[in-house]
Parts: sequence; C-alpha cells; structure tokens
Amino acid sequence: MQNKCVKCGKPLASDDIGASKKLINRGMTENFLCVCCLAEKYGVTEERIREKIEYWRESGCLLFGKTV
Ligand SMILES: [Zn+2]
Repeated sequence: MQNKCVKCGKPLASDDIGASKKLINRGMTENFLCVCCLAEKYGVTEERIREKIEYWRESGCLLFGKTV
C-alpha cells in the first residue's frame, strides 16, 4: 500500500490520512493528501488543519490514534 501524498509525494503520517478522510471522504482508501496539500486545497493554513486534528483526536475520533 502506497502511503504517499498524491500531490507532492511526501510520505504520509497517520494524521495526514485521518485528516484526508475527515475532510474529503471518510470511506476513501487511496489518493490521500498530506496536511500541507489539504491546507492548500481548502485555502487554509496548515496550522489550522493541525488544530482540527487535535480537536478530532480529543473528541475521540477513531481515525486519529492516541499519542501517549
Ligand atoms: Zn502533499
């Protein structure tokens, strides 16, 4: 399985994949984007997406693993 951003080719972390699913399509299994490219796609800053990821994680979203 290829876990690279389809746009820039950067290796993806689980947070990138989780954010892609949350923002684009929960059921998607490929064509993920990294946080940086997601930010560009939605016209927001990368920081904003990172904040959302933390928010989702704290809400207990299963797409984002707990970092202990
Ligand atoms: Zn990218």
